[in-house]
Amino acid sequence: SETPPVVTRFAPSPTGYLHIGGARTALFNWLYARHHGGRTLLRIEDTDRKRSTQDAIDKIIEGLDWLGLDFDEPPIFQSDRAERHAEVAHKLLDAGHAYKCFATPEELEAMRAEQRANKQPMRYDRRWRDRDASEAPEGAPYVIRLKVPTEGETTIHDQVQGKVTVKNAEIDDYVLLRADGTPTYMLAVVVDDHDMGVTHVIRGDDHLNNAFRQLPVVRAMDQVEGHWPDPVYAHVPLIHGPDGAKMSKRHGAVGVAAYRDEEGVLPEALFNYLLRLGWGHGDREEISREEAIKLFDLDGVGKGPARFDIKKLQNL
Ligand code: GLU
Repeated sequence: SETPPVVTRFAPSPTGYLHIGGARTALFNWLYARHHGGRTLLRIEDTDRKRSTQDAIDKIIEGLDWLGLDFDEPPIFQSDRAERHAEVAHKLLDAGHAYKCFATPEELEAMRAEQRANKQPMRYDRRWRDRDASEAPEGAPYVIRLKVPTEGETTIHDQVQGKVTVKNAEIDDYVLLRADGTPTYMLAVVVDDHDMGVTHVIRGDDHLNNAFRQLPVVRAMDQVEGHWPDPVYAHVPLIHGPDGAKMSKRHGAVGVAAYRDEEGVLPEALFNYLLRLGWGHGDREEISREEAIKLFDLDGVGKGPARFDIKKLQNL
């Protein structure tokens, strides 16, 4: 079979500024697609209605634009796609890859309290996995949970992290669709990536654990309707401050616009700095966009956390 053309995506949650980490993720997705003659897309993950703001959406788009990162289609808004997410949850349910769970919040709280007391990992105990929905009271609310295989293990050949394996028994039967019919974030990401034709998921390594929960949905849907290939994953190490600690405001963890407005940083300088942050050709003094597109690949992305130093950026 032919390899499909590369499609990458940047999928920010619009809860704040476009920060350095997000900008680098966007850059790597952009470069990877451009290098391979593919397409790159922007998906605004605005399902958390309370935390998502229009101001954040505007700032993210403006920051990307300023950096010169263009996308091949208008942005996709995750919140527009809730019906489609629910449709997939029901397909999984109908095919036996998911099930209705009628556990009440009180029951789940009691379960967690017991696990806590017994120093067990806090995880849904699959109490409705093998029960029939007819055992539930008439009209009782339910969530739809994924039926994750309990045997065997799942391996991801991550383009940055290498081979990573997790025992399936450690992956919980998490919620796909809430009692009010709204999709969870975990489901939405998988469905959107599939529908957008995303071939390569390049994102921060804080999402590596999520990949092991998302992949079972992909594989179950592939069994249900075919044409749901595993995406290629590349989980890029997070950016730390110059002292090795997690980035904070003290380290300059502010929106990229602040570098422009307060530090007078030019987009080409930030482009270059972000590129060098965790990417192997980093010793080169300055790389043009054309050269970066020619040279960029995931092999050059380091496994260790990158260190952001505002002073280096100021000196560019
Ligand atoms: N919306 C997520 C975030 O901002 C990214 C999810 C993903 O890339 O899969 O961290």
